[in-house]
Amino acid sequence: MNFNSVLDNCKTYEAGKPIELLVREYGIKAQDVIKLASNENPYGTSPKVVKKLQELSSSVFMYPDDSMYELKEALASKYDVQKENIVIGSGSDQLLNFCVKAKCNENSKMLMSKTTFALYEIYGKQVGCKILKTKDDEHNLEQFLELYKKEGADIIFLCLPNNPLGECLDKKDVYDFLNEIDSNTLVIVDGAYQEYASYKDENKAINPKDLISSYSNCIYLGTFSKAYSLGGLRVGYGIASKEIISYLHKLRPPFNITNLSLAGAIEALKDEEFVHECIVKNFEEMKRYEEYAQEKGFSFIESYTNFITLKFDALYVASKVADALLKKGIIIRDLSPYSLNAIRITIGTKEQNTRVFEVLDEILPSCK
Ligand SMILES: *Cc1c(COP(=O)(O)O)cnc(C)c1O
Repeated sequence: MNFNSVLDNCKTYEAGKPIELLVREYGIKAQDVIKLASNENPYGTSPKVVKKLQELSSSVFMYPDDSMYELKEALASKYDVQKENIVIGSGSDQLLNFCVKAKCNENSKMLMSKTTFALYEIYGKQVGCKILKTKDDEHNLEQFLELYKKEGADIIFLCLPNNPLGECLDKKDVYDFLNEIDSNTLVIVDGAYQEYASYKDENKAINPKDLISSYSNCIYLGTFSKAYSLGGLRVGYGIASKEIISYLHKLRPPFNITNLSLAGAIEALKDEEFVHECIVKNFEEMKRYEEYAQEKGFSFIESYTNFITLKFDALYVASKVADALLKKGIIIRDLSPYSLNAIRITIGTKEQNTRVFEVLDEILPSCK
């Protein structure tokens, strides 16, 4: 059968391995599996949100409020913008897709860092777009600018902080860079981990209102999947000029998130204390990974997120480490497919991390 030929060289996104896979393949009990592969909040969902969802479970026979009035109202008030500046997606993934469809076709170009969120490239290729990447793995704005001046771009992706590496540009440098960008280029600021970065270092904090008032060609994307621990509900949001938002709405299918998702997100915004406590614990636990790496003599990338990238250099082979951990019931992300001898580990709870260090001690000698 003939298919749309742009799909021929499109890769399928490979999501983090699910717990069920280890249960099936290695006979490990589900409760013994430690999943630190998808940057979920290891402390679970706020009890207040869980309670709300239970109360609402009998209302799922109805379609959700497609205007998403209440959630938009809550986000508008949190970020001090208007409802018309907001679009809601089934995860911010869906909004990335809308942005690409709104701006790009087979004659378009998109610019991104060499090692960044895999979906940017996947969505670009789906519309036949040319993908431009910097030489450095981490975001290097000089290289972005050089490529931009040479080739131009319809979309620029800035992942702040960057997944899967964890580094984050300073706001000041981002703004200096944006001053050089044409108003017809859409700049996507992916803030999936901004809650973590802005807690750790205020120089990294991007304020969406500030961003879009200074740069009308920018969109800020946020998600409830990470710090707000609602990955399973699939809720993301975009904040941009009314013009950009109106185009994204043309692409949005009706009822793109569920009524439970709407209610869960609204409730999660009311429990900022829970989110804050999780973020504080995240960075306390992250210190243990930094110390562990130093003790074992390998390096890591300073992280502004809820995960850390450990680089094994010539000491160990990342794919062997990932396999050995998997057989012990610990799922992490092997970064070998990005041509890096590194792994990405979501920072777990204290107990989970202690177990990770124990197992690493055990398996590392066999991963040379
Ligand atoms: C997790 C993540 C997202 C989106 O997650 P959704 O669950 O679709 O909201 C977007 N960008 C980055 C960099 C991420 O890590």
